[in-house]
Amino acid sequence: MSIYLDYNASAPVDPRVLSVMVDAYQNHFGNADSRTHDFGEDVRSITETARKQVADLLGVKNDEVFFTSGATESNNIAILGLRQFGEAENRKHIITSSIEHKAVLGAAKFLSENGFEVEYVDPGESGRVDLERVISMICPDTLLVSLMHVNNETGIIQPVKELGEYLSKTKTLFHIDATQSCGKLVEEIRDLHYDLMSISAHKMHGPQGIGALIMRKKRYRLPPVKPIMFGGGQEHGVRPGTLPTALIAGFGEACAIAENEAAQSNANCREIKKQLLELLEKSGVRYEINGDQNYCVPTTLNVSFLGVSSEALMLATKRYCGVSNGSACTSSSYSHSHVLSAMHLPAERIESAIRISWGEDVNAEKAMQMLSHLLEAVRSLIR
Ligand code: PMP
Repeated sequence: MSIYLDYNASAPVDPRVLSVMVDAYQNHFGNADSRTHDFGEDVRSITETARKQVADLLGVKNDEVFFTSGATESNNIAILGLRQFGEAENRKHIITSSIEHKAVLGAAKFLSENGFEVEYVDPGESGRVDLERVISMICPDTLLVSLMHVNNETGIIQPVKELGEYLSKTKTLFHIDATQSCGKLVEEIRDLHYDLMSISAHKMHGPQGIGALIMRKKRYRLPPVKPIMFGGGQEHGVRPGTLPTALIAGFGEACAIAENEAAQSNANCREIKKQLLELLEKSGVRYEINGDQNYCVPTTLNVSFLGVSSEALMLATKRYCGVSNGSACTSSSYSHSHVLSAMHLPAERIESAIRISWGEDVNAEKAMQMLSHLLEAVRSLIR
């Protein structure tokens, strides 16, 4: 029986989320934008309840939440949507990090091919970018800084709190990709200063295919983001397209659950991590943990089993260990992790790195079983 510990790629849907979604599919099937009958109004009340649940989790206002198909789309709208403003203001300098998700890196690259200057900060071996380095790169032309909250491969928390405080006193806009922290670092996110934030439901036990772009208002005005798609004007034109009622209802429920249960969930996850680390320590195999654990979330462990190629290990354990070596979004064609490479780790460590990620619903005993299987495979591959 295979054990799934790849929650950073996608987490299982909470049964309570699923039941809200089934109810929406069965009983609330209108279009939230239909104005000519009560069916539309009924659905609109469901999407607006969910919008409030998302807003409450993040500590923002309802009208600052814009539903999208997920964090890939949110990242694209946040970055590409600022193009016109940057051109009009002649502020075409963007700073981001080299460990961002490909949705950020790809959008930034597109702008760099179209007249913008994009600078990338490497994090160093700790996996955490240096705050002072980022601040030193900001100039009057800097339109945007885009930095993720938690890295999806290493679980390392980036200095978005300090950076947000600094940027709030400047005219540079700040985008945070909070896909891996939303619903987990609940109090921390509420404390952040930012203009734009990307989140996604499926990393927090909600359904795949729904997320949001949060746009914070300043003096009653939204950030100067222009749509990158055109259609029926839904979500105030920021993300046109019929609202997927059931996905949105499920996302809202996942947010409400996270708000109530995150503290307990984190405690459970911390315990799992502690046990995994103890088992590793006792194992006698040669390993290195990637990323400074003083800044790591309790749901992720990136570990290199020295002398064992991660591709060989994944292949040997594929049938019973659901873990990964890299981000799912890029892992259909294996190439070395751009995150670990940007941390300038030795090649041997990069080639042997795997990511284990879990949630509070994981049975600790099963997680240990999975690691034991992995360790057995490591020993047999070394021989
Ligand atoms: N950003 C980060 C940090 C992620 O981990 C992911 C998912 N791997 C995304 C963006 C993309 O999210 P989605 O799957 O919702 O498009």
